[in-house]
Amino acid sequence: MPPPKRLLLIGAGHAHAFVLEAFAQRPDPTISLTVVSDSPLAAYSGGVPAWLAGECTLRDTQLDIAALCQRAGARLIASPAVALCPTKRQVTLADGHVVAFDVASLNVGATLQQPQHPENAERTLPALLAMRPLGSLHHRWQALLEDIDQLPPGTRQNVVSVGGGAAGCETLMSVLAQLRQRRPDVAWKGAIISASPSLLPGAGRLPRRLVLRALQRADIAVHAELRGSALVAGGVHTQAGQRIDADIVLWATGAVGQPWLEKTALPRNERGFISVDTTLEVTGHSGIFAAGDCAALAQHTPPLPKAGVYAVRMGPVLADNLRAACHGAPLATWKPPRRVLALIGTGDGRAIASRGAIGFSGRWVWKWKKRIDARFIARFNPPFTH
Ligand SMILES: Cc1cc2nc3c(=O)[nH]c(=O)nc-3n(C[C@H](O)[C@H](O)[C@H](O)COP(=O)(O)OP(=O)(O)OC[C@H]3O[C@@H](n4cnc5c(N)ncnc54)[C@H](O)[C@@H]3O)c2cc1C
Repeated sequence: MPPPKRLLLIGAGHAHAFVLEAFAQRPDPTISLTVVSDSPLAAYSGGVPAWLAGECTLRDTQLDIAALCQRAGARLIASPAVALCPTKRQVTLADGHVVAFDVASLNVGATLQQPQHPENAERTLPALLAMRPLGSLHHRWQALLEDIDQLPPGTRQNVVSVGGGAAGCETLMSVLAQLRQRRPDVAWKGAIISASPSLLPGAGRLPRRLVLRALQRADIAVHAELRGSALVAGGVHTQAGQRIDADIVLWATGAVGQPWLEKTALPRNERGFISVDTTLEVTGHSGIFAAGDCAALAQHTPPLPKAGVYAVRMGPVLADNLRAACHGAPLATWKPPRRVLALIGTGDGRAIASRGAIGFSGRWVWKWKKRIDARFIARFNPPFTH
């Protein structure tokens, strides 16, 4: 009998959760499955707003990757990948492990460009909460909460989000909701700095108006057509030369690819995302796949937004194609949905639904979102039965 094909999943993002589920449901003794992940628990993006708003625990929003691997018969190595050589077909991990593969798939998410700041000025700068990478956000949030607990009563704090996309607006409203509840003795004021003329570029007029209304309700000012570029003493410096006062800065600017991918010799676009064909195979690299935020469809203009829903939708096709690639069978094509539904929490027990020109909001929308998210988590975290 030939040796089993070695299938390697790099990163435990949303798409790979579907791959693991598919192997748990339909095991294949001719494929040996290995997962490398920087953590045995993975963040589920849909749950982030409720967790930041203090409505649930971190654990309620995480996928148990170790348990998923066990069900799928996969070996889990909990160390991040730091290098990949497509010709030697091997991945090097931070702990020194070298893992060889026949077929590999990357689902490692994205990061962001950190703001510039003057050297040796950390003590005078606003506190920074970088919103990506998502997998380590909880460490940064916990450290910030510890600082906030030390604030003297009666002070005033300006919390500024740099980035006016859905993630920037939603996380600022969620963060302010928790901070106001945690420290009612502090006066909290919010602001958003958005490089584009309107918030939520790409969304319809009605959903945008609903978001503006929610921001007003949350006492958040909007500075449009300003690009935040650096942290300076007491605030955020903009490219136009202004300073916006800030004590805490949520950095939620556009996503970029992870720096270690630069050295992999895989083709990447100008933002550092791996170019893939419609089969999710990396362009020009047979048997290497990429999905979710770290991938960019080579033929697709404009590029797809970086949202968890795309990683989720790629999952089942990726699972089929990885199995097919191991067996030398033809690959299926993934077609991105033309429109997706975004449910944006507003931190006040309500949410806004946005799909193309359609927009509506209310408490029931938040309950609906929480039900969808709970179903997703339960699907991948069912109680283990042997
Ligand atoms: C604050 C915030 C809120 C958001 N809210 C929403 C939302 O409500 N709805 C929505 O659809 N989208 C939301 N998004 C976008 C969403 O988070 C991403 O689009 C989504 O997580 C992408 O999924 P993914 O599977 O590609 O990657 P990820 O979910 O980022 O998963 C990547 C995984 O790979 C692991 N990993 C990373 N590097 C390595 C490495 N070198 N080696 C091994 N493992 C590695 C990570 O730990 C992680 O588990 C939000 C984004 C942010 C920043």
